[in-house]
Amino acid sequence: MKLAGDKVIFSFSKDHEPVLRVPAGTTLEIETLDCFSNQLRNADDTMEQLEWERVNPATGPVYVEGAEPGDTLKITIHNIKLNEKGTICCLENEGTLGHMIKGSHIRVVKVDGDTIKYLDKFEIPTQKMIGVIGVAPKDKAINTGTPGHHGGNMDTILVAEGATLYFPVFHSGALFAMGDIHAAMGDGEIGVSGLEIPADVTVTLDVIKGKAPEYPVLENIDVFAIIVSKITVDEAISAATELMCKFLEPRMDITRPEIIMLMSLVGNVQISQVVDPEKTVRFVFPKKYMKKAEF
Ligand code: CA
Ligand code: ZN
Repeated sequence: MKLAGDKVIFSFSKDHEPVLRVPAGTTLEIETLDCFSNQLRNADDTMEQLEWERVNPATGPVYVEGAEPGDTLKITIHNIKLNEKGTICCLENEGTLGHMIKGSHIRVVKVDGDTIKYLDKFEIPTQKMIGVIGVAPKDKAINTGTPGHHGGNMDTILVAEGATLYFPVFHSGALFAMGDIHAAMGDGEIGVSGLEIPADVTVTLDVIKGKAPEYPVLENIDVFAIIVSKITVDEAISAATELMCKFLEPRMDITRPEIIMLMSLVGNVQISQVVDPEKTVRFVFPKKYMKKAEF
């Protein structure tokens, strides 16, 4: 089944009509526009021509049958198929270095298979990832540029092929949507964009009854990560470590102090992004040290 990229939302909200209803367990190919709604695709395009109200489209929302408040929406990312070119920008007064430049700048960059040809001078391996992915939040609508408990604009490089995400469900059907694929992005996303690129993403949407996590949890072949967004990085680190400790307790047969010592030895605080309205941090713990390495 395929969901076309013309069905987009610019906020996560319980009030959006679903564009598709699927049974739990459905595998779906989702077409995504880039974060500029594909408005800046040619070398002579400029930020000035951008209609800002069309920034950060997320394809959806998809109603997943059987997902009810308190449940967990399980998303497995199988495949990310990139377009052959992407767009990167930096802007005055945006990102960590916005005070060091004047005006706005874009570069349209070719992607040849697994290689990004930046300025035709640098060959950079692709590191495909999904920037915006999530469900309808509990209360009022949250624009697709902002991350939170519901996921959203987490800009986390681990949200990649082979990863599984666990989201809290706040409303019937979960109302899943995603967009903002990057061909590559460094931790922090300091210049305010990755290599923004249209893509087709294949995912399986599944429901786990109950167990809703407080913030999105990510699993890949090696690790579990808890992805927390807060106004400051410090607050996000505190919450991510606390939630990981609580996540590990029922999955280990050692005491809380022993878990904290182990987290200190082999766990990692990693910064996802520092440029969105809330900052995103993840605490990452290797599965091989867990007694029960399951969500
Ligand atoms: Ca983003
Ligand atoms: Zn992006």
